[in-house]
Amino acid sequence: MAQAFFGGVHPNDMKAATNEKAIEQIKAPAEVVIPMSMHIGAPCKPVVQKGDKVTIGQVIGEPGGFVSAPIHASVSGTVKAVEPRPFSMGGSFMSVVIENDFQNTVCADIKPVADPDSLTPEQLVEIVKNAGIVGQGGATFPTHVKISSGLGKVDYVLINAAECEPYITGDHRTCLERPEQVIKGAALLAKCFGVDKVYIGIEANKQNAADVLNATIKELKAPVVVEVLHTRYPQGAEKQLVQAISGRQVPSGKLPADAGCCIFNLNTTCAIYRAVYEGMPVVNKVVTVSGSGVIEPKNIECPIGTPICDLFDACGGLKEETYKLIMGGPMMGLAQYDVNVTVGKGTGAMLAFAGDEEKYVAEPQCIRCGKCVGVCPIRLEPIFMYKYLMKGNWEAFRDQLHGMDCIECGACTYTCPARLPLTHAFRLGKQQVNNARMAAQAKAAAEKKEG
Ligand code: SF4
Ligand code: SF4
Repeated sequence: MAQAFFGGVHPNDMKAATNEKAIEQIKAPAEVVIPMSMHIGAPCKPVVQKGDKVTIGQVIGEPGGFVSAPIHASVSGTVKAVEPRPFSMGGSFMSVVIENDFQNTVCADIKPVADPDSLTPEQLVEIVKNAGIVGQGGATFPTHVKISSGLGKVDYVLINAAECEPYITGDHRTCLERPEQVIKGAALLAKCFGVDKVYIGIEANKQNAADVLNATIKELKAPVVVEVLHTRYPQGAEKQLVQAISGRQVPSGKLPADAGCCIFNLNTTCAIYRAVYEGMPVVNKVVTVSGSGVIEPKNIECPIGTPICDLFDACGGLKEETYKLIMGGPMMGLAQYDVNVTVGKGTGAMLAFAGDEEKYVAEPQCIRCGKCVGVCPIRLEPIFMYKYLMKGNWEAFRDQLHGMDCIECGACTYTCPARLPLTHAFRLGKQQVNNARMAAQAKAAAEKKEG
């Protein structure tokens, strides 16, 4: 068993509703709405217009910069509009709307690599870039940038299959149903980075998936090792995974690459497999649809851009008492207020709640129990961070309490008996710090120009 990390919590994993349900392909929607930003970095520029015919895998959005990733049509049909539409990150965002012709015509450019074993690291980076692959665990950082910036520096390659958020079971099912994609994708990364082993980290509550992966590794004689990890949230956070598997610590304010490690989500690894062995860019996503508000929870594979109301329809609909929708897991996901927002590259789950999960308190008061300090995996002091932010003192939050190191895991909020909205406050506090930094940079640039 791998090493434990400091802190963390043990929420009820709630995975039983879907962990034995095979991934189901739903009937493609009549219309997909594909936002031109499904990654960290510069948004894409639409390269199609209303009335254009498109095919599956055709580029419809070109990268807006180096840290960006192209976007492809996920169904074949006709572009109905290029306009702002409701967006899962809030408000609306420029999107390409495609009316599905249900012909499933695949773009003529889609071709598998003839000899995957002969790929150089540079060629793999180019394939990953053209396939629009981004961190599919929710981080959505462009994968070609991650690989190219790690080449020559990284000696530990990790695949994150921890899937530690409650309810979500898409990665678990992927391991059970598509182990060859996982292992061959991992082997491509091993060759690219020149390491003799790639480590797949998976929590102990998914032992059957670890067994299937191990059998596939043996069969393919692949340079891959499965590490079974403690079942503890947030085991799948990057710094915790690095520590659990390699024993290394990622320094404050640094990235795993600074500790010689590079981490890829399990679905990202499968996307690399598909880009190389099938030539297919990112056009589909596996999403767990679950929670007490969903009539029949499922794991669903759907085209990118599928409206979330179609996901719920495929699961028998929502219960009348449903009061909350969350995209992502309950610990780190984002509340949604419009069922017309659509599935993006980083969407791993859509949850709906109709029970008594909501424990909202109107004017929460800290009882100084210290539990939040004991569970913080980064060893921060959430209670003091919160107090400073409530006084508007984000400088102390940043400088004295190292608030920018907060990974927004939600463990402190989960454990707080007084129900203080700690993580929400830290998310806003970090935004305030970033806004202040950008304002200072803009001011300095303007002064330099004048001077
Ligand atoms: S949300 Fe931030 S402060 Fe709270 S436990 Fe996670 S890392 Fe620590
Ligand atoms: S867990 Fe909640 S009540 Fe306890 S010290 Fe932290 S903020 Fe206060």
